[in-house]
Order: sequence, then C-alpha cells, then structure tokens
Amino acid sequence: MDRMGRTIDYLRISVTDRCNERCRYCMPEGYRGWERKPDQLTACEILRVVRVAAGMGFRKFRLTGGEPLVRADVPGLVRRMVATPGVKGVSLSTNGARLATLAQPLRVAGLCTVNVSLDALDPQVYRRITGADVGGVLRGIRAAMNAGFERLKLNTVLMRSINEQELWPLVRFASEHNLPLRLIELMPVTTTEVLTAENFFPVEEAKNLLSQRDELIPQPSARLGWGPAEYYRLKRFGALVGFIGAVTAPHFCEKCNKMRLTADGKVRPCLGDHGELDLRTRLRQSPTDDVVRELLLEALRRKPLKHSFCGHYQPCRPMTAIGG
Ligand code: SAM
Repeated sequence: MDRMGRTIDYLRISVTDRCNERCRYCMPEGYRGWERKPDQLTACEILRVVRVAAGMGFRKFRLTGGEPLVRADVPGLVRRMVATPGVKGVSLSTNGARLATLAQPLRVAGLCTVNVSLDALDPQVYRRITGADVGGVLRGIRAAMNAGFERLKLNTVLMRSINEQELWPLVRFASEHNLPLRLIELMPVTTTEVLTAENFFPVEEAKNLLSQRDELIPQPSARLGWGPAEYYRLKRFGALVGFIGAVTAPHFCEKCNKMRLTADGKVRPCLGDHGELDLRTRLRQSPTDDVVRELLLEALRRKPLKHSFCGHYQPCRPMTAIGG
C-alpha cells in the first residue's frame, strides 16, 4: 500500500522501447533515442524483478513497450512469468501487427488477456496515425479471438479531426466482434505539441457524441481487468465502451494501482511524473534480491498523489521509451 492507501499490485513491464509502428503521440518524428541493447533488461533480469515483486504482493503484470512483440523472447518470458509463485495474471499490450502468428503461442504460454491498439479502421487514417497497415492488425485481432484469451480489448486514443470520424465505425466493429472498446485521452508524453487544444478530444465529449445516437447505460460493476476505464453499455449498438479520462477526470489517480518498469530498467512510480529509480544498476551490481525489494519499496514511497499532465509536465522521455 502507498501513503494514500492505494493498493499497488500491478506492474507494467516494458520489454523494449522499439516499435514497428510510428504513432506521433507515442514517438516523436525522426526519433533516434533508442536504448543500446546492453542497457535493455534481459529476460532473466525481468524474471528476477517479477519474482521479487510477486513476493511483495504484486499480482498483475503486463508486458508492453514500444511494441513488445518485436522482441523474440516474449512467449518464453510469458511462460516463465506465469509459473512464478504469486503471479495472478500476465497480460500484453500490443499494436497487433504480429499477433497473427504469435497469438496462439502466447496463449499456449499462458498469457491471459490482450489489449490491442486500434485508432482507426479506415486504412488511410490508420496509416496516417501509425505509418502502418491496418489489415495486418485486423488479422492479428482475428487470430487473438481464435486463440481463446480470457479477454481481448481494443484501445483507441482520441484525437480531434484525426480519428474523430472513426468513432462510430470502431463502436460498430467492437459491437460486431463483442470486444470492449476503450477510448483514451491523449496524454502529453511525446512532445509538447501533442496535447494542443486542436487535437485534444476529452472523453466527456466522446460520451456526449455517442449519447446523441444511443443510450449509454453505466456499468459501474464492470471491471474488465486492472485498468482505470469507466464502462458504459450502448443500448442499441450493444457495445461495451470504456472511457479513460487520463487528463480530465478529476479523481483519476485515486484508484491507481500500478507502477512501471522501463525497458532500460528504471522503476517509474507514475506515468505522468518524471521521477524514476534506477533498478538496472542495482540488479547488475548485487546478486541479492533485497536490493530489488528495497528499490520497489522506495518507488512506492515516492509514488505521487497525482500525475502532473495538467501542470508543468515536459516530455523528457517519450511514451515509447517509458512503456505504455
Ligand atoms: N505498442 C503497444 C500498443 O500499441 O499497445 C504497447 C505500447 S503503447 C505505448 C500502449 C498504449 O499506450 C497504446 O494503447 C497507445 O495507444 C497508448 N499511448 C501511447 N501514447 C499515448 C499518448 N500520448 N496518449 C494516450 N495514449 C497513448
């Protein structure tokens, strides 16, 4: 528990800062700040952190990036994480581009749930946002549906005039495939130009837009996974839509249950705060697990009460380097 009384039992682990897509809100254009390979945590080092964290009460673990599936050892990592005492579930956030071939091996390895980013269905809009082909992602989503994960969710970052017009097609797609769709507010984690009045699209406005054509029935008991979304069922369309008001929701941080481990081995208590603690050096200097435990406890003590996206946040590190 942290000093606010929040139970922090969810660790999001970035396994790489590299990605096979180029979303401007995640990676600045022309970004070249990749970590050197030796600075990236190895699978053994990640597993050591997972073992210690699970021993301290962390229960839920998510692999993310960059794009986690550009790293070849992810199915093996999942298998070993799942077998770690105390681990209740291992999930993955992915852009879906490699899921067509990896969904089945990941399911066999014991991965329980998957979140796939899908900002648009229109191929041109999708390409404009990500630089990639939506066809491969849709094949990945189909493969993930067939693989039989406990849960598969879609994540859409809302951007005015960029994918605003994709909202209804995405809702229809989610409804047809019976997949929860989560609408996420754009966070200022790439460059200062990301969060401008022109492209910021608050979740309240998305709610209003949807309620013009359908009735939104609150689903207060819907807790699909470990995240902060507030869910509604669309009466006519049937879709389950979650809203993540990361920037505008006044009580957003009160239920926060997570910390992050970056691909280069820094523990980040809060996505929207620059503080990080260097775990990699300690991992490599000392064979005892006490150093890991102490650093995780220190990170817990330093977890801020609130993110500072609305204050003087400057993106020192882009989302792709922090891990989404
Ligand atoms: N590549 C994987 C993916 O696409 O899910 C995992 C990493 S990505 C950073 C994780 C999530 O963060 C994605 O859903 C992505 O859309 C979201 N994300 C990245 N940058 C963001 C930003 N500036 N604001 C809001 N969400 C963002």
